[in-house]
Amino acid sequence: MKCKRVQKLISIFIDGELKSGEKETIESHLRNCRICAEKMREMEGVQKLFSAAPKHTAPEHFAANVIANLKKGRERGFWFDFFLGEPAYLKMAEISCAIIFILIGMISGSVLFLGSGVHTQTEIRSSFSLDVFEPAPSNSIGGAYISILGGSS
Ligand SMILES: [Zn+2]
Repeated sequence: MKCKRVQKLISIFIDGELKSGEKETIESHLRNCRICAEKMREMEGVQKLFSAAPKHTAPEHFAANVIANLKKGRERGFWFDFFLGEPAYLKMAEISCAIIFILIGMISGSVLFLGSGVHTQTEIRSSFSLDVFEPAPSNSIGGAYISILGGSS
């Protein structure tokens, strides 16, 4: 049996739930394979940890209460959950965060505009205008075409 298969079966082996044939095969493998034996010790440690943990029992009628609450939630529907359901305060927080960010954006945007010394819309437009580029340089095909047509270039 390969180590991979043995290591898959170790936890079942520790629980003592292996078929008799597999059980012997794994026992002999563990005697001869240091790596798998080490895995086995690790697994046993984990299992001991779990079995040592204190066990809690659910309160009385726990399952029935959970089911009743689920049914109640379904009856209330989407809009109830949106406005009055428990996560509503989270949604309100999200919405107000979005509004605050938008306001910050608007305020900082207008502050930048005022600070830049550009005041009128036409000035702003001309600063972004394509007129800063030569529409057809004279040594380009477009420029040659325009000069043939008698345009100024
Ligand atoms: Zn092995």
